[in-house]
Order: sequence, then structure tokens, then C-alpha cells
Amino acid sequence: MGYLIRFLILALVLWLVIRYLKKIFGSEEKTKPLNTKTTQPMISCAKCGVYIPKDQAFVVGENYYCCKDHVPS
Ligand SMILES: [Zn+2]
Repeated sequence: MGYLIRFLILALVLWLVIRYLKKIFGSEEKTKPLNTKTTQPMISCAKCGVYIPKDQAFVVGENYYCCKDHVPS
């Protein structure tokens, strides 16, 4: 009988530890910052229509271009 009680206590402790670890790792995932590269807005070239990240585009007035060659001179 004593063995059974010890086994139950051990199982309870293990369950609590696992639950505690899951709580730690779960909260870590939630606080991870979002990848800014995937959230980078995409714009299309005014000349050829190719989609490129906004920070890599050539901006002329309100238009965006994929490369210098497509910027009207
Ligand atoms: Zn282009």
C-alpha cells in the first residue's frame, strides 16, 4: 500500500512539472516578436508589375518601381 501511495505522489509531481514546463514554453512562444520580414508590405512596380518589398522599391512621387531602369526619366 505504501508503494502505491509513493507512486501516486510521484505521478502527481511529474504531472505538475510537465504542466509547469508547458506553461513556460507556451508563454515564451506568445512573447516571441513577429518576423518583420514576413510582415514587410509588398508593392508592385508601376511599369512591369513585379512585386517587391516596399523598402527595396524606388519611389518616384506616388509610384513605386522595382529597379532604376523602370523609373521614368
Ligand atoms: Zn519593374
